[in-house]
Amino acid sequence: MNSKTGKPLVPNNIETLKPYVAGKTIAEVVELYKPERIAKLASNENRLGCSPKVKKAIDEAFNQIQDYPDPIARKLRSAIAERNGVKPGNVLLASGSESIISILCKTFFLNKENAITADATFVGFFVQIGVRGVHLKKIPVTSEYKYDLKAMVNAIDENTKMVYVANPNNPTGTYNTKNEFDWFVENVPDDVLIVVDEAYYEYAKDVEDYPHALDYKKDNIIVLRTFSKAYGLAGFRVGYAIADEELIKNMMKTKLTFEPTTLGQAAALAAYGDDDFLAKSVDVVEQSKERLYKFFDDHGVNYMPSISNSVMMILPTEEEAIDFTQSMLEKGVILRRINAFGLPNCIRITVGMPEEMEHFERSFLTVTGKG
Ligand SMILES: *Cc1c(COP(=O)(O)O)cnc(C)c1O
Repeated sequence: MNSKTGKPLVPNNIETLKPYVAGKTIAEVVELYKPERIAKLASNENRLGCSPKVKKAIDEAFNQIQDYPDPIARKLRSAIAERNGVKPGNVLLASGSESIISILCKTFFLNKENAITADATFVGFFVQIGVRGVHLKKIPVTSEYKYDLKAMVNAIDENTKMVYVANPNNPTGTYNTKNEFDWFVENVPDDVLIVVDEAYYEYAKDVEDYPHALDYKKDNIIVLRTFSKAYGLAGFRVGYAIADEELIKNMMKTKLTFEPTTLGQAAALAAYGDDDFLAKSVDVVEQSKERLYKFFDDHGVNYMPSISNSVMMILPTEEEAIDFTQSMLEKGVILRRINAFGLPNCIRITVGMPEEMEHFERSFLTVTGKG
């Protein structure tokens, strides 16, 4: 878009960004197709809901709603620091990991610097990097749909400021092992920030060869976590970063002063203290994944085993992926095509409650004619 003088009003890096296309809401699907049942398995949300302790906490916090939030989320920050064996000064809270990614982009890049990640990963990173106008090198994932850490290290040049690895990755659900990660951390220069997005940490942490990024104790590692997934608080928008105190101090300067909100902070603190809910939430996902793997094995469907809360289904072509997603939608099963994540022939299925998995299976059988 140009002004009358021909000078662009909107810079090119913004104009060329693709707007976020949200999945269909339950209300839209009901109105369009009137299915008998609904299973929303599209956005990696927690189908179990959230801790029952959250309701009481936000009722109480509601009394402070006329006041600005605590800009450093003191209580929540201390709780997170304590549990992770770091100091409060190592923790920053913001409105979801997406906001943290935006903060990283605002804080660390000089104009000519670049970032490196995989070609099939979290769109939120692509978007925030694009908004900041940073050059992004997208390295193809391996044949096992994993980050190609060797190729990423090879792509580092004198202008590289950041490498971003979601572990486990979204949308693939795959992960880089401890061995691979050891090598990576050793081979990324100290002046390059290693951002490890552990949005699915709670599902992944007990997997035997899963590398816990915090264990590496390197000043250039920034770990991201969120309350949106296993804690079931996506609607509240709370995420955090754990990193070196100097880095956090500078990130504090660029975050929006009063994020996350008062209610978000209270909800997250209550959820963080409910280990029973967390265990249940991880357990539901484990069982539903096992069930889905078996179903797929029985019906000859290609998929990637996952250590997050979603499973990626691999179809032969993009067309088949489009058709399958649409047919399932008409049955009330909302799935996510992941073309925007760089995998046009794949579909991401968030695993849900047993009744939702059953609805998925029945609909699958009808739609594919295998039933
Ligand atoms: C879901 C997800 C997030 C979460 O973002 P929030 O802004 O905290 O809701 C971050 N990173 C990845 C890789 C994700 O899949």
